[in-house]
Amino acid sequence: MKVDVPVSDAADVVATAPREAAAAATLRTWLDAHGRVLVLTGAGISTASGIPDYRGPDGLWKHRAPITYQAFMRDPAMRARYWARSFVGWPIVARAQPNRAHAALVALEARGRLAPLITQNVDGLHTRAGQRSVIDLHGRIDQVTCTACATRVPRAEIQRQLAAEHPEWTSLTAATAPDGDADVERVVIEDFTPPPCPHCGGLLKPDVVFFGENVPRERVLDTQAALAAADAMLVVGSSLMVYSGFRFARMARERDLPLAILTRGVTRADAIATVKLDADCEAVLAAIGSGVG
Ligand SMILES: [Zn+2]
Repeated sequence: MKVDVPVSDAADVVATAPREAAAAATLRTWLDAHGRVLVLTGAGISTASGIPDYRGPDGLWKHRAPITYQAFMRDPAMRARYWARSFVGWPIVARAQPNRAHAALVALEARGRLAPLITQNVDGLHTRAGQRSVIDLHGRIDQVTCTACATRVPRAEIQRQLAAEHPEWTSLTAATAPDGDADVERVVIEDFTPPPCPHCGGLLKPDVVFFGENVPRERVLDTQAALAAADAMLVVGSSLMVYSGFRFARMARERDLPLAILTRGVTRADAIATVKLDADCEAVLAAIGSGVG
């Protein structure tokens, strides 16, 4: 089923209401028709919490591409640049609050309607909203891990240490990307890096899956188990341009599970979706949040 909801020439406020109302009606019917739903969320669900998406509706990068795992591990200058940008962006992620879309998914879970939720976001907002069963596919930005011994340190503690060493940076603010990286256009101090691992002296890295890095095997198995427990799959706020997310949509279709996509703009999985809802995910989920049994 391909659903045509009213489409405006521009994403103007006037045309938004009927688009979201139509999408909510369709999604409510779709949810009622299926048992346990596997929900996969992306950056679009967090934009209403003030965390910007780093791809536009056309699927292209809005700013620069993020750092790769290889560059982070190999190049001290790239690492310093990453931490400098992350230092400026972190307060926005740390202050962000879950929105009505997160709350609606908590309500669906409480009614026994969901398989474990898979998120591509690293902001931790599903867990903070009260979602009990969450698989953080790409990790969590609020944790830092030693690449040698796996010791974990809270990101907030790293922020305090960096602020103490670089007080001149604490007044900066920046627009952020979903991984807490920030768009800082300036010469980076070469030693702008956190201290080594307090346990073994190893290299600390944010506990997130960087581009060019694999999702840990155990986490992949968790997601496959979640898919096996589902009767249908719903993608929320993701263009699925990152392969690790697209792969689950494709696996769902290979199992003949219905696939609904709720997001603004084109996605990589449009051709295999059974329902496509081009609408604002927060408004739509808020509309159905209290009305689905
Ligand atoms: Zn260590």
